[in-house]
Amino acid sequence: MELEAAEGDTLKLSVATRFLKSWIQSHYAERLMACLQAEFASVSRIEITVRSGVLRTMPPKTKLAEQTATVREPKSTGIEVRTPAAPISAAHEALGGSPLDPRLTFDTFVVGRSNSLAHAAAKQVAQARRGDSVMFNPLYVHAGVGLGKTHLLQSLAWAGNASAERKVLYLTAERFMYGFVAALRAQNALAFKDALRTIDVLVIDDLQFLQGKSTQVEFCHTLNALIDAGRQVVIASDRPPSELESLDERVRSRLAGGLVVEMGALGEDIRLEILKTRVAAAKHYHPGFDVPPPVLAFIAKTVTHNGRDLEGALNRLLAHSQLTSQPITLEMAEREVRDLIRPQEPKRIRIEEIQRMVARQYNVSRADLLSSRRTANVVRPRQVAMYLAKTLTLRSLPEIGRRFGGRDHTTVLHAVRKIENLVHSDTALAEEIELLKRQLQD
Ligand code: ADP
Ligand code: MG
Repeated sequence: MELEAAEGDTLKLSVATRFLKSWIQSHYAERLMACLQAEFASVSRIEITVRSGVLRTMPPKTKLAEQTATVREPKSTGIEVRTPAAPISAAHEALGGSPLDPRLTFDTFVVGRSNSLAHAAAKQVAQARRGDSVMFNPLYVHAGVGLGKTHLLQSLAWAGNASAERKVLYLTAERFMYGFVAALRAQNALAFKDALRTIDVLVIDDLQFLQGKSTQVEFCHTLNALIDAGRQVVIASDRPPSELESLDERVRSRLAGGLVVEMGALGEDIRLEILKTRVAAAKHYHPGFDVPPPVLAFIAKTVTHNGRDLEGALNRLLAHSQLTSQPITLEMAEREVRDLIRPQEPKRIRIEEIQRMVARQYNVSRADLLSSRRTANVVRPRQVAMYLAKTLTLRSLPEIGRRFGGRDHTTVLHAVRKIENLVHSDTALAEEIELLKRQLQD
């Protein structure tokens, strides 16, 4: 929910969908009121409105061109910027594309070391013209939560659709599943498939959520058909293709066959830049909103986790300053964002990384670790690597076995136990493992 305004005894909130509105009204109205009244005794009414993220415009020069575009600008929190005047193609709608957030454009995307490659690739895709040869297909971007995947993909969709020359369709994996299932039910799956195959750029967000055998088969067909036809496919996920365990091996390798880019954690400079951009955008709607530089620096320094927490931190400052009309101070900021300051979350470690690091440490090759060789100089490193894979990742024993050259899960279990026992007696080994862990987590 976002705070729209506080007017007299009425507090105006907005949500993203009608469903959320009615859900909150029917399930949480009283609790919400109670919470609000505890903080602000004067509030006696809550008004919830639906923000519109979907912009409707007709493509130029069609019979429908005179129909006025109903571009509604969301007037929700201040944390947003003006709607870009990009027309979003009717195809996007006809195909049931997921709503695009007008705030998520290249203009508001801050580029830094961790995301410059992904950004450059996305820009390239967005600017390509119909008939240009496709440079990397699919473009596959992966990153942890809140690191800007959706922002980047939506920017691409906005920019790509701006020219009306090409059709860019942005779909969440959930929407893709839903669209397909609905089409099956209505017995026009064929039409759905054909429609999908008419687009120039298919953008799929959060691929890790793609589930169900038949949707996966369908996804695979769509992917192949588009790529083979020279159409661009862009994908975002929270993990690399090799770790999309529920997907078929062939799909994974197809996904890995284009350009795979990881976006890393947002550095402090990017965080500060994001905050500045957002404050500037917020001022547009709330001219009185002012965040002193030391407060921005403090948030950029301490709220390190991801972009969503940065947004949350600013929303709180905004809400606070609106509701209490007090200036924002460092002390107030410290209090407001305390719970967003988390100790450094453990880094997501990948099995490949473990294998690479261990191989380097013991001077063997990664291929040796995966091979069936059983000489002492590879057996021990292999066991160490399996042990680290088990303790530093959430992968299951069978999965780890599979990633170590297709070994059985009992072999992995044996290795894990073996090392667990050894570290108690062998201090040199214990130290080596400690060092490896530290290097991996760094
Ligand atoms: P993801 O899809 O990777 O989980 P999002 O794209 O939803 O992450 O980003 C979370 C929030 O952080 C959004 O509000 C987004 O605008 C912001 N954000 C992340 N990266 C950037 C960036 N490089 N520049 C500007 N805003 C960013
Ligand atoms: Mg996302």
